[in-house]
Amino acid sequence: MAFNFSKSNLPKQLFINNEYVDSKNKKKLSAYNPKDGSLVADNVALAGGQDVDAAVEAAEKAFPAWKRMPPIQRRDIMLRFAALIEEHGEALAELTRITLGAPYGSFGKFETGLIVETFKYNAGWIDKFAGESFPQEDGFLKIVRNEPLGVVCGIVPWNGPLGSVGLKAAPALATGNCFIIKPSEKTPFASLALGPIIKEAGFPPGVLQVLSGDGSTGALLASHMRIRKVSFTGSISTGKKIQEMAAKSNLKRVTLELGGKSPAVIFDDANLENAIMWTANAITANTGQVCFAASIVYVQEGIYDRFIEGYKKALQEKTNAVGDPEDESTQLGPLVDEAQFDRVSGFIERGQQGQGDLLLGGRRIGDKGFFIEPTVFTNVKAGSEIQCEEIFGPVAVVSTFKTEEEIVAKSNNTNFGLMAGVFTQDINKALRVASDFESGMVGVNCVSLMMMTAPFGGSKESGIGREGGIQALRAFTEPKTILVNLSY
Ligand code: NAD
Repeated sequence: MAFNFSKSNLPKQLFINNEYVDSKNKKKLSAYNPKDGSLVADNVALAGGQDVDAAVEAAEKAFPAWKRMPPIQRRDIMLRFAALIEEHGEALAELTRITLGAPYGSFGKFETGLIVETFKYNAGWIDKFAGESFPQEDGFLKIVRNEPLGVVCGIVPWNGPLGSVGLKAAPALATGNCFIIKPSEKTPFASLALGPIIKEAGFPPGVLQVLSGDGSTGALLASHMRIRKVSFTGSISTGKKIQEMAAKSNLKRVTLELGGKSPAVIFDDANLENAIMWTANAITANTGQVCFAASIVYVQEGIYDRFIEGYKKALQEKTNAVGDPEDESTQLGPLVDEAQFDRVSGFIERGQQGQGDLLLGGRRIGDKGFFIEPTVFTNVKAGSEIQCEEIFGPVAVVSTFKTEEEIVAKSNNTNFGLMAGVFTQDINKALRVASDFESGMVGVNCVSLMMMTAPFGGSKESGIGREGGIQALRAFTEPKTILVNLSY
């Protein structure tokens, strides 16, 4: 099975037990190109109950041997998988781009790079993720082993279709679990195209499988009695349903990576150029469709006017780089689809009806596809919708503040807690504010970035659990305590 997928040869079948198969379910998914709204395919497999059961059965069969495979053999399979993704990176990125609309240079390359790096990084952990042992002087040796959970799944969103697979599948496989990927119905093709790569890398049948589908497929996985864990990335409302389904079925383990409304706080003594660069990139990367985008910018009064001037200029430059995602000069593509376009436009329209002043943008670009101008509101009313809700588009709100105490309270006055950024040249202030922020991640003189070597995830309603680093390995294993009676 050679890799030969492209936009004119799309993968549309499920990948179960190392074979492409038609779904037993008759319903199909349709996918559209957001640059012009055209239909890309209307016959993509939508996995139903029988398909999910078939994948779980294959995974259960594969699990005992995969779990026992010598670490270096498992490591080599994962490294081969990473190398093959690297080799086919541009083709995989194209398969995402045709339904996400994100240009290769500014996003596609990063995203395929992320799955490659997550597999390399987690492959390196395989023979280093040690257990523990405790003193035996009481007559019992206590050995603690990190045991894989068994059959686990990842339900991922459309905004980072392969990167989010890497963050979940790589630590799950490294620790000896069998993994089922459920891509978003809006961006299924890059995941579905992994079949030949999975096979060529040497994953045994049933170890890594792909089930395309919509929320109904996700619900079948989250409530399945023989799946031991669901790692979910997506919206808060779906995350809550997943946790409920997990609890009501077999109490499967749950990791939730959910939404955010992340603040960037810029003090008078910040390096202005640096603060403008990070905050302008933060709200426009992937056309603002990033969970940890700094979408509320708080600027101390002394530099507010200068910040606004620079921020406006930087975002105008971004507006000039909006265009066809296939062109090399394009940095920003369209929003993912009509529903997302209507949602973001709705926020912008209502925002102008008394919630704040429109400083920049706000309009559709062109007359086809789902392109929108980077948009900024100022003088926004406390408690208003654009101030409080996740918009998930290139829309920022900028406000002023006077004191450190005031801005910490304002930044924490939200149920979100994914990321926050503080910009200052005073190291004491930076560390004080960083420790006071109620969020899973904090950037000092940077914002809206992640490193897969360190924990990634949110506090409060932005999530449960962490991806990245050793935390991801712990999230896919359970400690098993073995007590050895030494006097026997
Ligand atoms: P979504 O919740 O609509 O869908 C996410 C996934 O869940 C999709 O695969 C979908 O098919 C599936 N799904 C939908 N309903 C389901 C159900 N009832 N049961 C099981 N599965 C179901 O989210 P989205 O629109 O794809 O993604 C955007 C959201 O994701 C934003 O809120 C964003 O902030 C969040 N996000 C978070 C992170 C993070 O790491 N914290 C990263 C990226 C995106």
